[in-house]
Amino acid sequence: MSISNPVRWVRPSVRNLHAYVPGEQPKERKLVKLNTNENPYPPSPKVLSAVAKAVDGRLRLYPNPLCQPLREKLAALHGCSPDHILVGNGSDEVLALLIRAFAEPQASLQSGANPSTSRVQYFWPSYSLYPVLTDIHGAVRHPVPLPADFSIPNAAALRRIGWDTKAAISLVTTPNAPSGRGYSTAELESLCQRQRGILVLDEAYVDFAQENAMELALRHPHVLVSRTFSKAYSLCFQRVGYVVGHPELIAALAKLKDSYNVNGLGQVAAEATLADLAYYQKNFRRVCATRQRVDAALTADGFRVLPSQTNFLLVEPPGHPAEEWHARLRKRGFLVRWFSGPEVRHYLRISIGTDPEMDAFLAAVRKEL
Ligand SMILES: *Cc1c(COP(=O)(O)O)cnc(C)c1O
Repeated sequence: MSISNPVRWVRPSVRNLHAYVPGEQPKERKLVKLNTNENPYPPSPKVLSAVAKAVDGRLRLYPNPLCQPLREKLAALHGCSPDHILVGNGSDEVLALLIRAFAEPQASLQSGANPSTSRVQYFWPSYSLYPVLTDIHGAVRHPVPLPADFSIPNAAALRRIGWDTKAAISLVTTPNAPSGRGYSTAELESLCQRQRGILVLDEAYVDFAQENAMELALRHPHVLVSRTFSKAYSLCFQRVGYVVGHPELIAALAKLKDSYNVNGLGQVAAEATLADLAYYQKNFRRVCATRQRVDAALTADGFRVLPSQTNFLLVEPPGHPAEEWHARLRKRGFLVRWFSGPEVRHYLRISIGTDPEMDAFLAAVRKEL
């Protein structure tokens, strides 16, 4: 490294960090975006007008630091009190706070300390942000491989593949991403019951699933459930997510967050969303119906389609390698997600768009068969 290279001032752990790679937000507006699991339907008209009405001289004021009105509405929805809830700048911020609150950085471990106290444990493959957040905090990644069908193994099998019941924090994406596989509340509860450290259920896609496990966060003091307004509630742009758990844990997270972590328009949009849930429930049903139809069509075209309880499908394409399918579909105007990791490189992840978008997508697929 040259003496004049400014990068020498950057901490080695930051210099060597592999940052999270977000899905592409293309400049060509004509590309159909089926790559980041955004909702194809716009927010409710009531949400758009609530945001528009809030844009005035009030923008000079700081927003509510604890999102108090939003937490009260969320508490009513989930049957708990507002002190069970922390709202974040997207659930990504919530995940970062959870790791900072519960995992000890490796460098501050006393000699002879239990290594589990530094472990951030997660199934793999799952959300690719978890290892990045772990590295940023200086904690220790503890990925545990999922079997080929992405099911959660039973207790004995988990022990065999290195699952640590004492890991400081374990993150479970449920339904799983990128596979789309759903997990039953019963199997998640038995995982919770054996766990001695913190267990986080990341329910980013749960509105498209058959079951949710919110009750576990209200019944077990070491279990937290994180949710987001991004995917199911068409609000990626506004960055609002939250976590539900024991008030003592929520209070600890609140100490770590930025004072004004959730912007005011995001709070307004999220509150208006909760006042119009019927609009969104109709969208969940539409997305799930389209998903079923696309699943059947791709299966008939020779794709192996994994069962999904989310707003995307993980598929193994026939003929060309998945990476080449990704490039060919892009040329035809459709952006899907391809991951280079060895466990998932044979697959494409396809977000569910509107019916006309998916019809055009299926027609493009057939031209490449
Ligand atoms: C999209 C996603 C999130 C993050 O959502 P935010 O937009 O930050 O609220 C969290 N977890 C999983 C598994 C996701 O796919």
